[in-house]
Amino acid sequence: MNVEENFTSIKHEIQQACQRVNRKQQEVSIIAVTKYVSVERAQEAIESGIQHLGENRLEGFLNKYEAIGDQATWHFIGTLQTRKVKDLIDHVTYIHSLDRKSLAKEINKRANRKVSCFVQVNISGEDSKHGLPPEEVVSFVKNLSSYTNIEVVGLMTMAPHSEDSSVVRAIFSRLREVKEEIEGKEWPHAPCHYLSMGMSNDFEIAIEEGATHIRIGSKLVGHEYD
Ligand SMILES: *Cc1c(COP(=O)(O)O)cnc(C)c1O
Repeated sequence: MNVEENFTSIKHEIQQACQRVNRKQQEVSIIAVTKYVSVERAQEAIESGIQHLGENRLEGFLNKYEAIGDQATWHFIGTLQTRKVKDLIDHVTYIHSLDRKSLAKEINKRANRKVSCFVQVNISGEDSKHGLPPEEVVSFVKNLSSYTNIEVVGLMTMAPHSEDSSVVRAIFSRLREVKEEIEGKEWPHAPCHYLSMGMSNDFEIAIEEGATHIRIGSKLVGHEYD
């Protein structure tokens, strides 16, 4: 399948998911995750009308950024090592994986503008997943107020692989509750209006639970290599 065909069918599924819960399709941004594909395939995504690209490793990010540059809005969605922040910071618009103070400090130090960050939350409690436990998120976000180059635009999570959709739904619903708690504080440094959740297998459930940013790899651009 070419990217354009995949994009068309995903947009249709998004529209239907939005309809089921009375949301507007425009509230949902689609991030094409290009970590499994070539630069050419990422370019095809841009030509198909996709605006947002996401990568989870610095090397892959810089590779694609070099070819595509500011034609895309760039999202960093993977675990970010503190020492790599300086190479990323000038090119990225959204960081989805803020999960510790040392990383916040480094982003704040290296950035020469406000950077939009999602705080990553590990709702499922799986060891393999990064992110803060949900009960620590509110105080973590509160303490970011002194970092003037960080704006907390939302929260991000990954759901476990599960055949049971109610398990996945409960994870997304919990993230939404934490997001609403922070949003309700009206902290100037943390508007927290966004929810980055939902991937190829579970984006429809995520949208039903309030996702504003879905991160889609295999189903949209495919899976050429690891
Ligand atoms: C790889 C990845 C995705 C996309 O995964 P697919 O299942 O291929 O859609 C989304 N989010 C993160 C954080 C990822 O690492």
